[in-house]
Order: sequence, then structure tokens, then C-alpha cells
Amino acid sequence: PARDEITYFGAGPASLPTTVLQNASSAILNFQNTGLGLAEHSHRSALSHGILASTESSLRTLLSIPEDYTVLFMQGGGTTQFSAVVYNLLGYWARMDYVVTGGWSQKGSEEARRLFGEEKVNVVTDSRKVFGRYCGIEEEKGWKRTEGEERVFTYYCDNETVDGVEFPGFPRSLEGGVVVADMSSNILSRRVDVSKFHVIFAGAQKNIGITGLTIVVLKSSILQIQPTPGTLRALGLPVPPVMMSYPSLAKHNSLYNTLPIFDVWIAGEVMKELVAAGGLAKQEEVANRKAERLYAALGRAPGIFKVVPLEGARSRMNICVRAHPAELEGVFLRGAEERGLLGLKGHRSVGGIRISNYNSITEASVDKLVQYIDEFVQKNA
Ligand code: PLP
Repeated sequence: PARDEITYFGAGPASLPTTVLQNASSAILNFQNTGLGLAEHSHRSALSHGILASTESSLRTLLSIPEDYTVLFMQGGGTTQFSAVVYNLLGYWARMDYVVTGGWSQKGSEEARRLFGEEKVNVVTDSRKVFGRYCGIEEEKGWKRTEGEERVFTYYCDNETVDGVEFPGFPRSLEGGVVVADMSSNILSRRVDVSKFHVIFAGAQKNIGITGLTIVVLKSSILQIQPTPGTLRALGLPVPPVMMSYPSLAKHNSLYNTLPIFDVWIAGEVMKELVAAGGLAKQEEVANRKAERLYAALGRAPGIFKVVPLEGARSRMNICVRAHPAELEGVFLRGAEERGLLGLKGHRSVGGIRISNYNSITEASVDKLVQYIDEFVQKNA
């Protein structure tokens, strides 16, 4: 089919605005009449420096990033940050508290345990133990945070892509603490008070751009307190591999090695569009409205559709739902495909239906899907 005949609701990589891709297709052939495609230009050229600076500036505008925060452009996806975060923070901080509300925070905690051992990792809450599966967020008064130790950082995943669980806002009990958040699947979809976090990271391939770029926003003081390799060795702790070392990357303006500037440029183009459209206040309003319409459509047929996560923890970005009887799921997905509504199958680990409602999904696309849901319900009620 032609591009304008389909809508892709996949969870990531996600679709991008067609305008950005049209510009990208000429940029990769001959960037700004330089005779060279953007992926061929040196990452150390003035041109690349300009792209880095402009993308960083748009990100700073969108997230209102405070002056005392550093932006890093990295590679290796969210998964590399599972390791990078602990390599960079453990040493100065002595213990790690993990808030486990879904598959991705679980993977983050598993990596911390694998690298540093069971005794360093405290699981504050594990939704699977509380609810039997990842479908909600335990009330904070039930969380078992590390006590009697000041040097603790807390890690959580703001939006669990596989399970469709999203924090409605910043967890109140973490106020004033040292907090790391994985925002891979909801970054740039709502306003965030960056000053509440020590580290925020996100792979670009959902709400920012294309695969291959990871954005890290961190409090600059982290760069100064990082123990030296000698101190780490004396503490019996590993030294971070250079490509994961925040101070090394910061010192080289994210150019310690060859950075995919094409990816940075795409992210910049997406962000410029967001800034022009009214920034994150506007984006939040649109994202909320789209999610409300989708949940409302599913809610009109409680006999057929059951939203998996509990109210209060439902993601605006990944809407996870089961159909009953189960055979209807296949019927729903096939019917959707016939209409060009693609990428709606749930993650392989949980099954079901998942509607990913990222920034690039327009309200018109949501309307098409809502119409299909309504017709499907009428036919199968
Ligand atoms: N964190 C979240 C919330 C994700 O959704 C994903 C991937 O889907 C990851 C981390 C892992 O990201 P990557 O595949 O970029 O390593």
C-alpha cells in the first residue's frame, strides 16, 4: 500500500511524520546542496556541530531543561542505559531502589543485579507480586524503600511499553530524592519537571525519531562526583566502559566516537515541529485527548474489550487490551489490517491488542481506529 493508506500503531520503532521523512529522503542523498548525504558527513564537521547544537536547543526548549543539566546523545538504546545508569551512579551512591511496574523496569533491575549483585539492589515494589501481573502501581505507602542509608538512588520506568502502565505524575514519595527515570516510550508526550530527576533517558525510536539514538538528560553535578577509576577499584567496583561513561561523553560533547548525526538531525526535525506546534503543553493536551477517545471507545463495549491495566495507571501511550472471547483478537487484528490500521498486536510476551498512541499518531488516525472499534463492536456484540 501507499504510505497514506496505512496508519502504523506499532510500539517502536514507531512511525514518523511524513514531512520529516520527505525531507530526510533528500537529506540522505544531498544535504543542503553540499553534494554529500547527511550520513556521509563527518560527525566532527561544523555542519554536524550545528545539528547537535540545534537539536539540543529544541530539546531544552521542549522540556525546559534547567541550566545545570547536561544533554548527551548516545547509542545502544534504552537497554544500554540500564547498564550505564548503574555504572555511573553506583560508587558515589551505595544502593539502588528499583520500582518494578512492568517488563522494562524489571529488565533494568535485572541488569543492575547482574552487574553488581543481589545485595546492592532493593526492589521497592513489584507489581507482579502485588497484582499477580503488571497491571497497576502499588500505592506508595506500601513501597519498601531502603532505610538508614542516605546514598540511595531510585529507578523507575515512567511508561511501561509492554504492559501499558504509566505513572500519572511524579511519584510523591520520591520528591527530593535521587531519581532515575526511563522515559523511552512517553518522553515529549507531556510536560516534565526535569529538576526532580538526576537522570532521564529515552531511546529515540518511539516519540523522538529513529532507532540508533538515545537521549540522556542528567544533572551536571553527577559528572563531578563520579569516582576515579582508582577509587572504584579500591571499592571493589567496576570501572564503566568508556562508551557508557557519562563524564567521558560529556567531555567530548557526545562525540567520543562516531555519532549517527543523521539520527540526531531527524530527532531535531521532529522536535522543531513540536516546538512550532505549541510545545509539550499542546502535545500533552493532544495525547490526552487521543488516549481518552481510545479508552472511551473500548469502554463502550465492556463485554468484548477489557483494558488490562487498572484505572489510575493506564498509559496514554500504549493502550493494552484483551478481547473476549479470545478468538475475537485475531478477527479484530485481521479486520484492522484490511483497513490499513497496522501494528496493533500486543507484545509477544503478553499477547492481546496494543494500540501505541505516540506523538506521530494524528487525531484523524485515532478517529479512524475509533470508528473501526465501534463498527467491530456492533458486528460482534
Ligand atoms: N525501556 C522502555 C520503556 C522500552 O519501551 C524499551 C523498548 O521498547 C526499552 C527500554 C529498550 O529499548 P531499546 O530497544 O532501545 O534498547
